[in-house]
Amino acid sequence: MPPIITTLQPILAPYEGKPLLTPKEANMLTYHLIERLMEHSCDKSVLKLLARYLSKQTYEELVTERIINHYCGYPLCDFRDPGRIKEVQVNQLVSKLKLPKSYNHKYCCKKHYQCSEFYKQQLTTDALFSRTKLDLPQFHPKAPESSIILLDDIFDPVGTSNPDDIMLLLREMSISDPQLETDELIDKFSNIVIHEKNIE
Ligand SMILES: [Zn+2]
Repeated sequence: MPPIITTLQPILAPYEGKPLLTPKEANMLTYHLIERLMEHSCDKSVLKLLARYLSKQTYEELVTERIINHYCGYPLCDFRDPGRIKEVQVNQLVSKLKLPKSYNHKYCCKKHYQCSEFYKQQLTTDALFSRTKLDLPQFHPKAPESSIILLDDIFDPVGTSNPDDIMLLLREMSISDPQLETDELIDKFSNIVIHEKNIE
């Protein structure tokens, strides 16, 4: 039985049964989702379901709003520290260089930076109003949220994600952000897979 998402129900209710949204409706929905999630934390099933509605760009907007509110950028985290998590004005050149530890003022720790990037990697770039089948039941096998893998689940396994899919995602992550320390993640993940195989 898939989880029923009650946190988002009031926000999603006006759009229930609509397979597609107008640009105006899509903007409204995105705005309300970001507003709901820019403080505190949500659970894993909410974050997965968000994949149906968020794009890479709107997820980045959500992360930015969280940081403005001094919360760790990863929506599963409730860490807040106004002294550390904050919008920092960085000049264009510096931000292009992606200096090491530049995630320090955006996330509580490196793990959450990686979790956030891993999640973002799986989101589409398509605008919400251009998507179809928004009326599929929650966690329908063909719905986007059903294929989302959270890095949290890999290191704390509950599901049966395909190791090849995870490897592919990790590699894609390192291509899109060469500064991200994905080698370490790949090593760690390979060890887990090898360990599990030995147990069988
Ligand atoms: Zn965090």
